[in-house]
Amino acid sequence: MKKKITIIGSGFSSLSAACYLAKSGYQVNIYEKNSSPGGRARQLEKDGFTFDIGPSWYWMPDVFERFFNDFGKSVDDYYELERLDPGYQVYFGKNDSIYIGDHLEKIYNVFEGVEKGSAQKLKKFIRKASDNYKIAMNDLVYRPGISPLELITPETIKKLGYFFSNIKKEVTNEFKNPKLIQILQFPVLFLGAKPADTPAFYNFMNFADFGLGTWHPKNGMYSIVEAMVSLAKSLGVKIFLNSPVNKILLEKNKAIGIKIKNEIILSDIILSGADYHHTETLIPANFRAYSEAYWDKKVFAPSSLLFYIGIDKKVKNVSHHTLFFDVNFDSHASAIYDNAKWPDEPLFYANFPSISDPNMAPEGKETCFLLIPIAPGLEDSESLRKKYFDIVFNRLEKLTGQQLRNDILFKESFCVNDFISAYNSYKGNAYGMANTLFQTAFLRPKLKSKKVKNLFFSGQLTVPGPGVPPALISGKLVAGLIEKN
Ligand SMILES: Cc1cc2nc3c(=O)[nH]c(=O)nc-3n(C[C@H](O)[C@H](O)[C@H](O)COP(=O)(O)OP(=O)(O)OC[C@H]3O[C@@H](n4cnc5c(N)ncnc54)[C@H](O)[C@@H]3O)c2cc1C
Repeated sequence: MKKKITIIGSGFSSLSAACYLAKSGYQVNIYEKNSSPGGRARQLEKDGFTFDIGPSWYWMPDVFERFFNDFGKSVDDYYELERLDPGYQVYFGKNDSIYIGDHLEKIYNVFEGVEKGSAQKLKKFIRKASDNYKIAMNDLVYRPGISPLELITPETIKKLGYFFSNIKKEVTNEFKNPKLIQILQFPVLFLGAKPADTPAFYNFMNFADFGLGTWHPKNGMYSIVEAMVSLAKSLGVKIFLNSPVNKILLEKNKAIGIKIKNEIILSDIILSGADYHHTETLIPANFRAYSEAYWDKKVFAPSSLLFYIGIDKKVKNVSHHTLFFDVNFDSHASAIYDNAKWPDEPLFYANFPSISDPNMAPEGKETCFLLIPIAPGLEDSESLRKKYFDIVFNRLEKLTGQQLRNDILFKESFCVNDFISAYNSYKGNAYGMANTLFQTAFLRPKLKSKKVKNLFFSGQLTVPGPGVPPALISGKLVAGLIEKN
């Protein structure tokens, strides 16, 4: 008889694991608390405007392709991808912005224009980042984080120095112009920690950025969720929405099922793609592998204050992805990581997907989402949201030289309290636990429970870490461990 697997949550890691497990012959049921699948990548549709609620940067297209190839499919079978040009635009002041183009040669030229001699330096930097990318993909990220030995290969030994240096040092050793330094430090923000706390090896994200490019799936990132749901269903996976799991049932130290409201569902294996910390609250305290003190000491990726805005006209002087780095990067980072507080002068990110994808807004209008990264666990109130909306919207208008406020058709916001209520997120984190040196690979919470048999975990609080591509990989890794169980 087919072994029965219950999966909690329908984020990318859960959907990925479900596909691999169903392909291997397990009977897989997913239970999701929300009314639509996709976890942090759900979609908001309002008055003809379409917003990706969470992720919007499609990086590392090779990881998505590799995922679909594992099922004899290709990305092209499910959604259309476009490489964005520019990949993104970064504002440093009024009428002062840099475009990151869709090819390395264009980017080398831009660098040279800002700092003489930097094109050659960037070529060298990207060559090393590209080597590290290959090593990361071949020797590191597809490992389940069970033992340090799995990281020791002839290739990784050669790169040991990179693990004991950090991104900030690597970048500032080579480049002097503050704008170029900020651009080169930007990709590691996806890993959730300060550049000074992120091992230099992660400069492979710079290759992902400049070398592999920024892509847009037609109709938005939710197309990936739809693709994975369609693949999962074709393999026999059943997805139950509006199904919040409130208990994992144990028999001695073995997981035997879940409870949803008053319904008991028995199964052979439980896999949770919900936040790790939350999942452990569904079992008695003596069976939890990690204490509250453990979680409290960890470096978490930021939470975010987000605004989803329908604008009644086209917005000028911005790109699909536009970063506003016109204030001090280090002060904002310090307000997230060193001394958690609302930043005095926030950096922010603006997303206008309807610039390259007309399907995402009514004709002549613009879909806009704004994101301010903040420390997890901060106080969240309507008045704070309003205060920060005014700060960033005024800056958006001033730096891009236009008035937009009277053209706002509607605006919705999402912040710490929503991350907690929508996803049971620890302290309202947006994208999990950061990849610092001491929170990498085998040093992260384990995919397999250390105390409860037949209980497994996936997603951004375990290996390999935050982000959509890592979530796909996490699902594959945990499915592999379950098959060996
Ligand atoms: C604002 C934002 C921007 C981001 N930007 C990017 C980006 O541009 N590019 C990128 O690659 N990544 C980005 N990320 C990160 C990326 O979205 C996540 O790392 C990834 O989607 C996490 O997937 P997951 O499977 O770990 O978990 P999740 O997506 O969190 O899925 C967990 C699921 O479990 C469900 N759940 C929780 N508790 C229960 C319960 N008790 N019962 C049933 N279900 C439950 C939740 O509702 C949720 O659906 C961003 C994230 C956010 C929030």
